[in-house]
Amino acid sequence: MLIYIAGAGAMGSRFGYQLHRAGQDVILLDEWDAHIQAIQTNGLVIEGDRTDTVHLPIMRPSEATQPADLVILLTKAMQLPQMLQSIQSVISEQTQVLCLLNGLGHEEVIEQYVPRDQIMMGVTIWTAGLKGPGIAHLAGTGAVNIQSLAANGKARAEEIVDVMNQAELNVTYDDDVIPSIWRKACVNGTMNSTCALLDCTIGELFASESGQALVNQIIHEFVVVGEAEGVQLNEEEISKYVYHTAEIAKHHHPSMHQDLVQNNRLTEIDFINGAVHRLAEKNGLAAPYSQQITQMIHAKENILGIK
Ligand code: NAD
Repeated sequence: MLIYIAGAGAMGSRFGYQLHRAGQDVILLDEWDAHIQAIQTNGLVIEGDRTDTVHLPIMRPSEATQPADLVILLTKAMQLPQMLQSIQSVISEQTQVLCLLNGLGHEEVIEQYVPRDQIMMGVTIWTAGLKGPGIAHLAGTGAVNIQSLAANGKARAEEIVDVMNQAELNVTYDDDVIPSIWRKACVNGTMNSTCALLDCTIGELFASESGQALVNQIIHEFVVVGEAEGVQLNEEEISKYVYHTAEIAKHHHPSMHQDLVQNNRLTEIDFINGAVHRLAEKNGLAAPYSQQITQMIHAKENILGIK
């Protein structure tokens, strides 16, 4: 199976590496010069639970020509439209496109470039990091849930599930993946932006009484807005999930902290808390916590001069 990894950063490197090791034809697509050059020169270096080096093809998206069987989208959210625009020539009628980005609203973006019945939406709790261009740090275990948007797409999607499971990616077909996407977005929406703004670890945020009050308000907004969008979310269950995740990850700075504070990169805030604010307005509701957090993250991006 010819699989393009569209966005070969930390997570794209994990998925590309594991699928390559399982015998699939994998091509990495990326726009970051130093990363492309490092992988072309030294291979993709894997550190963490395993030490390995694999010589995977990597190119700019506009250079890809062979029609894909599968495209796995793993850009940051704000890079997604540009990526989809650049890979139009590899998307044939046979191509399945799987989105594994964090955040909300990506299916509307993808539908502008890919027929709806070729799209699969998914969510993953795998993690990954980049130690520098061409060097991925992979540790821990994870899972993926996916669903085809095609009315009769389950059988085709289950073939993809099998291929990904041969690569030990722990994938399950989910007849209703949207609530899981919202639940993961809620995890990100409670701790990523707040820890980035407060410059703290997840444990420090949740140890604070005011921090917990903030988290609870954000969870409530996600649940109310999700329900207005027709997504059934149980506030108690989501809250337990968020607090459980926070306990496991208490020593970590979340990825938005790493992006904004440590690496001065743009954040995915518009697709997490920002999306909840937008959807609240669309439904005649208010989500003041999500709105203000989004404004503060953008203000911080401006203050740091990040473009
Ligand atoms: P990433 O930032 O590592 O990579 C995304 C893109 O940014 C890639 O094209 C990459 O080459 C480029 N990039 C990375 N570092 C760069 C730098 N210093 N300078 C210039 N370009 C750089 O993103 P990711 O962590 O792989 O996340 C991809 C998607 O998966 C996001 O939607 C994210 O929220 C989601 N996700 C991430 C994790 C995780 O543990 N990293 C877990 C679950 C979901």
